[in-house]
Amino acid sequence: MTNKYREEAPGYTMTTVMEEAARCLLCHDAPCSAACPADTDPASFIQSVRFRNLKGAADTIRSNNALGAICARVCPTEKYCELACSRSGIDVPIDIGGIQRFVTDFEQQGDLKIIEKGDSNGKSVAIVGSGPGGLQTATTLLEKGYAVDIYEKNEKAGGYLTYGIPEYRLPANIVNYEIQRIIDLGANIKYNTTVGKDITMTEIKANHDAVVVAVGASEGKVLSMFKDNPYVESAVDFLARVKENQDDIVDIPGSAIVIGGGDVAMDVSTTLKRLNVKNVTDVAYEEFDEFKASKKELAGTQKQGVTIVDGYVPERVNGNEVTFKHRNIDGELKIKADTIILAVGQKVNTEGLGFVTEHGEVKFKGYKAKDEKVYVTGDIAEGDKTVVWAVRKGKEVAEEIDHDLLGGN
Ligand SMILES: Cc1cc2nc3c(=O)[nH]c(=O)nc-3n(C[C@H](O)[C@H](O)[C@H](O)COP(=O)(O)OP(=O)(O)OC[C@H]3O[C@@H](n4cnc5c(N)ncnc54)[C@H](O)[C@@H]3O)c2cc1C
Ligand code: SF4
Repeated sequence: MTNKYREEAPGYTMTTVMEEAARCLLCHDAPCSAACPADTDPASFIQSVRFRNLKGAADTIRSNNALGAICARVCPTEKYCELACSRSGIDVPIDIGGIQRFVTDFEQQGDLKIIEKGDSNGKSVAIVGSGPGGLQTATTLLEKGYAVDIYEKNEKAGGYLTYGIPEYRLPANIVNYEIQRIIDLGANIKYNTTVGKDITMTEIKANHDAVVVAVGASEGKVLSMFKDNPYVESAVDFLARVKENQDDIVDIPGSAIVIGGGDVAMDVSTTLKRLNVKNVTDVAYEEFDEFKASKKELAGTQKQGVTIVDGYVPERVNGNEVTFKHRNIDGELKIKADTIILAVGQKVNTEGLGFVTEHGEVKFKGYKAKDEKVYVTGDIAEGDKTVVWAVRKGKEVAEEIDHDLLGGN
């Protein structure tokens, strides 16, 4: 693999991880643990690391999170556990993600098998979609003794873990390892199978006691003025293309305009720079003080030399030339580039699944759909749209199904 895709952040060594863990205040009622959406309990695994009990630390992480090695790399910890960390009052928060990465790397190197399949309870559940929501739901159900079939439209599992988040932030070998462990636990993944097209919901329901729909928001939104424009591609299509063809990416443009100000726009801009695209301009609706992208991602993108223009909205497009207007001041900006990539959000495609969407989203309260055998989870269920929340929602929907089918015993 070429350098441009190699994982960016170096990991800790045994010595440096001990130094970082030694900064932890071992707080009573640790705020970091209360702030983790997946209940991964940093206070407890950091304490184990301090005692050099890496197996115990891995046990703690795995008891709550089937995707612990992935969350260690991509979780926006600055919004959750590290935001709550008491050490911030002294200097800087503990690098909880970094310590978790060290522990899960140790677990992978030792090929520890911590999660175990439960004894069969005779019930079976179908899951539509193998992104983080579907994968965590499958794990919790397998631990409880359910048989699990996952229907996945793509040829690989993982959803945005496999086809979205760039390699330099989340290496494919980490994703594949976590997925393989869920397969080893008993998940039966049926690849290249689009539910609603290759198989109907009615057929799936007839063969399972419950169905969980975890299809995510897997399509990029396209603003109407850009429809059918040959220069335009959605951010998620572009990132999927790069991940699919890492060593052999074709059609590298000389210049690019990226439209959007969130983390996905930062991923696209940084990826373009890593592919040696000379001029990359990111134009965002938000002004800098209201940017949606995390500070870490924004700084990383700026470091790559991407020009970021804030506060502008696209007004018209003529081929590959876009005219933008400033939101608050009089000002017009015309930019021409070889390609235009839209990072303006993702929408849900529920064709054939029996759900209605509103502005590209499925609106339900909780995890139950209208049909009593059908549940939703992951990005299409209420709550944050992050991997750690997909883990949380996956566990919660599995508990709810277990309660409905077997009384939760
Ligand atoms: C570029 C990008 C970067 C991101 N970076 C981060 C990050 O750094 N940290 C973070 O926490 N979150 C990040 N996210 C958000 C995170 O990836 C999502 O919140 C998460 O993947 C949602 O999980 P999910 O299982 O609901 O859906 P998805 O990951 O979207 O998975 C849905 C799965 O369902 C399948 N599917 C869809 N329709 C059907 C059908 N009809 N039949 C069968 N299968 C179907 C899809 O192929 C896919 O595999 C990022 C998202 C993107 C797009
Ligand atoms: S809040 Fe910070 S200092 Fe306290 S236990 Fe958690 S990681 Fe350690």
